[in-house]
Amino acid sequence: MAVLMDGRIMAAQLMEGLKERVNVLKEKGVGVGLAVILVGEDPASQVYVRNKGKACEELGIHSETIRLPEETSQQALEALIDQLNQDDRIDGILVQLPLPRHLNEAQALRKIIPEKDVDGFHIENAGKLFTGQQGVVACTPKGIMHMLKEAKVPLSGRHAVVIGRSNIVGKPIAMLLLDENCTVTICHSRTQDLPGHTRQADILVAAVGRAGFVTADMVKPGAAVVDVGINRVNGKVVGDVDFEAVEKVAGYISPVPGGVGKMTIGMLMENTIEAAERKAK
Ligand code: NAD
Repeated sequence: MAVLMDGRIMAAQLMEGLKERVNVLKEKGVGVGLAVILVGEDPASQVYVRNKGKACEELGIHSETIRLPEETSQQALEALIDQLNQDDRIDGILVQLPLPRHLNEAQALRKIIPEKDVDGFHIENAGKLFTGQQGVVACTPKGIMHMLKEAKVPLSGRHAVVIGRSNIVGKPIAMLLLDENCTVTICHSRTQDLPGHTRQADILVAAVGRAGFVTADMVKPGAAVVDVGINRVNGKVVGDVDFEAVEKVAGYISPVPGGVGKMTIGMLMENTIEAAERKAK
């Protein structure tokens, strides 16, 4: 039976440490602030934004959620980002994705000054990650690395297989695993013989967005399986991994809910606090 990489426990420990850092800043008279911009009424986004607000509250971080109507123009969105860029109370700006179709996501993200880009999606931060320079690292991949290290999963020289090649999960987690000296394979929707690849993985990261996608026969015995997927099936949230079957084969496994999602929020808090710490310097 696999060791459970429990995001709830790991995130709770992380939050304790972060609370301390917020207090140290407060003693120096430095506040920490996060602004979240939510455009439209996407139900999943509403839940994510609420959870981010709750985490800020727990840590004593000032948080503002700015809700804009679905029909908001690109110009109005960028004007708001500009205003938040200049607001000293705000250390982190997050534009909740996905944006409505008529808005240009990449252009909006580029408007955020890289220092306040706590999601790590700005082209400058993504570029730094890909060239081995220090920048803001995207929350979900950063959270996955934290989880693997907390669970003491051996990384150096091991084969990591990532399923998914998105800019927010697949590509950045591949870079972070490479930085830890893994041999990395990135698989995607056009990959031939996917199980042939996944069965070679010592570390398998599933970021596809399809319930039950990773089955037990795709997993090498003893592998560390990280489930990034968030899928809603009959009102229940499930990951990409067939948890019940895979936990019998894997050496380590992360659950959904209570896995990577928890780490993502923790890392968003850490990125925001780090931005405030930079400001304090
Ligand atoms: P995405 O849709 O941008 O990317 C999905 C990837 O899966 C693509 O790169 C595609 O090539 C690959 N894929 C699709 N079908 C495939 C197939 N048959 N075989 C192999 N690969 C295939 O999604 P994303 O933004 O990377 O998110 C992936 C999942 O992770 C979603 O369920 C999302 O909700 C979830 N997610 C969770 C968190 C979290 O904090 N837990 C954060 C971000 C995303």
